[in-house]
Amino acid sequence: MDLGLRGKTAIVCAASKGLGRGCAEALAEAGVDLVINARGAEDLEATAAAIRSAHGVQVTAVAGDITTDAGRDAVLAACPSPDILVNNAGGPPPGIWSDWSRDDFIKALDGNMLTPIALMQAVLPGMMERGWGRIVNITSQSVKAPIPQLGLSNAARTGLTGFVAGTSRQVAGSGVTINNLLPGIHDTDRGLTLDRGVSAKEGIPLEDARARREATIPARRYGTPEEFGQACAFLCSTHAGFIVGQNILLDGGATNATI
Ligand code: NAP
Repeated sequence: MDLGLRGKTAIVCAASKGLGRGCAEALAEAGVDLVINARGAEDLEATAAAIRSAHGVQVTAVAGDITTDAGRDAVLAACPSPDILVNNAGGPPPGIWSDWSRDDFIKALDGNMLTPIALMQAVLPGMMERGWGRIVNITSQSVKAPIPQLGLSNAARTGLTGFVAGTSRQVAGSGVTINNLLPGIHDTDRGLTLDRGVSAKEGIPLEDARARREATIPARRYGTPEEFGQACAFLCSTHAGFIVGQNILLDGGATNATI
């Protein structure tokens, strides 16, 4: 399917690896020129080179922490008027309700709520003036089915979801859509880190830790960054202009909440 995106420009945050990279690859495959970001310059440059050579699009790598003013300013300086924005960043650490101080909450809110909001506020006026834009926020399955030990993430991401619910309906008339993609368990470094944690804590082999989590997913496997990226590219496509303010789960059926 031609996604109608050839020649458009996108900012993809937190994209040297994992789900962000999956989105960058799928947009590049559709002919989109990219500005990609992550903190580690070396991995980011390697990803940029791989995408350039695979898809022949322009890829600018901007290293920096997207949760800081300096990181966001650098990304926006490299691409002040994107057609597409994919918001992403690392997730907050797990714990229990009694662990978290005000500072922990502020950090989580900064990373997973206020950063994507700041980037949306920066690019929305231009998108609306040009009459076309796509914004996809990578959030989490935990927005629909909160995960108890991820209280910081649950809090920050539902705050972002609330902002998107209202804002997406205020900007849709200008040809701009904002939607959220909610990953369930995916085969990324983060997924591997979680499996390693279970393996170490319970003294079981890594494969057993993974098999146990796979068994909780009706699809009986982890999701891949590639299929996640293709879903993102479709949401950014010219065919998806009527999809507004939605939370779209990509979790292999794990969240039993169809109705
Ligand atoms: P990942 O494989 O660990 O990749 C994270 C990417 O983000 C890397 O490129 C990393 O590069 C970059 N990054 C992290 N923090 C950043 C920051 N502050 N500024 C700029 N770049 C940053 O993670 P993932 O699995 O793709 O997860 C992406 C998001 O989806 C996370 O918020 C995660 O919590 C959420 N999620 C993932 C899953 C899953 O199963 N994978 C499930 C639910 C939700 P650097 O480290 O070099 O910056």
